[in-house]
Amino acid sequence: MAYFEETVEVMVTAEQIQKRVAELGAQITADYKGKDLTLVGIMKGSIFFLTDLARHVDLPCTIELMGVSSYQGGTETTGEVRVTHDVTKPMHGRHVLLVEDIVDTGLTMRFLLDNMAARGPASVKVATLLEKPSRAKVKIPLDYKGFTIEDRFVVGYGLDYGEKYRNLPFVGVMRTD
Ligand code: 5GP
Repeated sequence: MAYFEETVEVMVTAEQIQKRVAELGAQITADYKGKDLTLVGIMKGSIFFLTDLARHVDLPCTIELMGVSSYQGGTETTGEVRVTHDVTKPMHGRHVLLVEDIVDTGLTMRFLLDNMAARGPASVKVATLLEKPSRAKVKIPLDYKGFTIEDRFVVGYGLDYGEKYRNLPFVGVMRTD
């Protein structure tokens, strides 16, 4: 990982991520015992978190993917979100756990929670690897959270910069020096 470590400053190590993901998986396993759980990963950023987390959920859950894209108003997100890929099964009556990479302003997650609620699931909760609370525009209840981070643009473990750097095993900040 020499190239990555030269270009990206590590913020959350691969070991810290793996340990925390295992803890979240154990918590989810305990909370959803006996329930019909569906993990809905939000593409593309959550895919690494989703697959690692799912392997720590010791329950017969199903896995779905949803893709969303935010409309940009200048450089800031306007909060208007478009579904680019939908789940393949009805969510009605299921216990849905939305799995996201990062909750920043919270606008994307607000949209996803409303969108899911309209489908009549038994419950909807949120699991996010990262949260940037200093940027929050709306309050989102985060049921399972990996790490709280400061307001820096991060890459790795699913998070991209121009579609690259998703495959870093850690989360970090691009070096500018
Ligand atoms: P929100 O709607 O909460 O403002 O933003 C959600 C989306 O913005 C995330 O799913 C992610 O795709 C993107 N995002 C927010 N902060 C970062 C960041 O620090 N790094 C990267 N790569 N994407 C981010």
